[in-house]
This record gives sequence, C-alpha cells and structure tokens, in this order.
Amino acid sequence: MKNITRRNFNSLTAKGIGGAALLSSAPFACAMGVNQKKEKLGIALVGLGSYSTYQLAPALQDTQHSYLAGIVTGTPAKEQIWADKYGIPKRNIYNYQNFDDIATNEDIDVVYVVLPNSMHAEFSIRAAQAGKHVICEKPMGISVAECDAIIDACKDAGVKLGMGYRLHSEPYTQQVKEFVRERTFGDVLFVSADAAYRSTGNPDQWRLDRSLSGGGALVNMGVYAIQSTIYGTGENPISVAAQEFSTRPDYFKDTDETITAQFKFPSGAVGNISTSHNFNANAMYVSGSSGWFRLQPANNYGPLSGETSRGDIIKFPHESQQKLQMDDFARHVLFGEPNKAPGEMGKRDMMIVEAIYRSIADDGATIALDFEPGFGFGG
Ligand code: NAD
Repeated sequence: MKNITRRNFNSLTAKGIGGAALLSSAPFACAMGVNQKKEKLGIALVGLGSYSTYQLAPALQDTQHSYLAGIVTGTPAKEQIWADKYGIPKRNIYNYQNFDDIATNEDIDVVYVVLPNSMHAEFSIRAAQAGKHVICEKPMGISVAECDAIIDACKDAGVKLGMGYRLHSEPYTQQVKEFVRERTFGDVLFVSADAAYRSTGNPDQWRLDRSLSGGGALVNMGVYAIQSTIYGTGENPISVAAQEFSTRPDYFKDTDETITAQFKFPSGAVGNISTSHNFNANAMYVSGSSGWFRLQPANNYGPLSGETSRGDIIKFPHESQQKLQMDDFARHVLFGEPNKAPGEMGKRDMMIVEAIYRSIADDGATIALDFEPGFGFGG
C-alpha cells in the first residue's frame, strides 16, 4: 500500500497538478484597482458566530495575503472582546446599522459575510456597493434570484466575488479533480456523496427556522454533497430527482430533515447524494471504468482521508482549509490568479437546490437542468 502525497503523486502521473497554483504567488499583470499596492488585504468578518470565532479568525492569523482588519457585529459585547483579542482598532468595528460607512475605510478591502443564510444577499450587496470585494458563505443565498442579485451587485461595483467553499483550496479535493481530469481510473461512471450531521441542539436555532436558513439539511450540508458529485465527475448535472424523509417532525418543524437525490450527467455518469440533519455522514466515492477512489471524511475541516482501488492511501499534510481558501481569494484579487470558487458556483448550486426542492414537491419527478458546460466551475 502506497501513500499518495502531493509530492509523490506528481511523479506517478504524466501531467502536473492544478493545485500547483496554490504555491505560486507570482504577481500577475492585470488591473487591480484600489488594492494594487497592497501586499495583504484587510478582511472584515460580518457575523461573529461559531464559524468566524473558531475557524476564520484563527485562520486569518496565519494567512499570507490577508489579515483580520475589521469586524461587523450586532452584539456590542463582542466588540471589545474581539478588539482585545485581535488588536482591531475601533475605527474598524461596525454594527449592522453603520456598516455602509465601511465604504470610506481604506483598511478594509474584503468583506466576508458569515451570517445566517437569509442575510447573505443583503450584506453581500451592501458590501459590494461600499466598493469592497466580497466573500459570501454557503449557501450563497436562499434563492437563485438572490444569487443573481449578489453577482450583479459585484459586477456593477467592479469588485471580486468568491464563495466560502473552502474545499476547493485544499489538497484532497484538488486530488479528486486531478483523478477525474486525468482519467486516472477511467471514465467516471458513478459518484456517491453524503454530507450530514445529527442535530439535537436548541430547536429555536436559526438553522431550523426557514425564514433565516432558507431550508434544512439540503442548503446547509447538501451543498457539499452536490459539489462532490460535480467535481467527482467534472460535469454539471443534466437532471435530478429527489426524495425527502421525515422521522422527527416535532424537531424539524420548518426545515428538511433528510433528502436523497439522483443525478444524471452529460457523459452518462450517474450520481447519488444523501444529506441530513438527522444522521452523520461524510464521504464521497467515485467508480470509474478502471477503478475507484474515495474520500472519507470528505467535507469536514480536515484532515480528510482517502484511498484508491490501486491500494494507495491519499494523504497530505494538514493545513487550515480556511487559511488556504482566504489566501486563494486574496491571490485572485491581488495577482489576478483564478477564482477557485466564483459567485457563479454558488448560483449553480442554488439552481440545483431549487430543482431538488421542485422534484420533492412534484413527488420525485425528474427535473431537467440546463447548464452551459463548465458553468460555475472555479479556476
Ligand atoms: P452561528 O449561529 O454560529 O453564527 C451566526 C452569527 O450571526 C452570530 O454571530 C449571530 O449573532 C449573527 N446573527 C445576526 N442576525 C442573526 C439572526 N437574526 N439570527 C441568528 N443569528 C444572527 O452560525 P455559523 O455556524 O457561524 O454560520 C454562519 C454562516 O456560515 C452560515 O451561512 C453557514 O452556512 C456558514 N458556515 C460555513 C461553514 C463552512 O465550512 N464554509 C461552516 C460553518 C458555517
């Protein structure tokens, strides 16, 4: 049994890796606007809940091309705590009301929206209108119309837009993309992906309130499974049929508990996903015409883990996915490197989410999807 690492896998394949760009920071000649002269971008986190507190802020202590410059919070008590912990000056601390004043703050280049899902569109659009680049957490919004509004606002303002899809910056997912691109295991015939966790906490949490979450397991975890089927095949799906299961209706009053869905892809490959707030699952499996590979876990904060039908163990040194993701976005802004998770990717996933909900509402009917080839793929 061999270990595949980024270094030795390259020697096993004829071609180089897409992930090589991760290591590059060579300046790229293009229009960079206001950030032209900056070496590190100032990021302001909007919403200081658990993801900002335990993942993003710590990761921003290690990022090469960005740093934690500001915060936007609706909880006054957090202002001093964060100011003391991270040395954030008062002039870089905002609340939801005075947030638009950020337009005149030259310390802030990027606004990272980490709020409940139904607030993503409002704050992403306000950030763009303030002239700031935007990173928007998943799901991008609670409807395709909201995704369009965010994309349009960023285009109109001439700012960059990235999704908080951290997996596109980490090496296991890069490896999956490379296996698919290089046809290492032949033509992809089947992909399955599962992204789920068991929720037993406060029944009043925003994730169980449709007006704030826009949906249940599907919009929260299902987007990871949808994404796995897409980078696991290298294609966008052409149709989906879906089913919903409910076993704890008293707890999941307002949002979906468990959803399964089946996809068809243009090549003929088929995909199957499950997502749930009732059980735990975290895996992807791809069967090709000459072998298979899988990741398990496939979508948590890492380290991920994988193996292949050749007996290889897929293993990379662990780094914060959030650090890699924010550095990738900063390199996109600063040096014109490819956007690994553009806004169109968030919109594409929301189009699939809406199709899944439509299928469920129509008793599992097959819903056609019509994407331009490669629509929403990152660079
Ligand atoms: P959280 O509940 O821990 O934090 C939410 C924050 O929003 C809190 O600071 C809260 O005070 C604030 N808030 C403002 N208005 C609110 C309202 N009306 N109701 C509830 N909270 C309100 O949530 P989180 O886990 O930090 O998730 C925030 C976002 O980040 C979500 O969109 C989630 O999908 C996303 N997220 C992404 C990842 C990832 O791996 N990319 C991981 C976790 C969360």
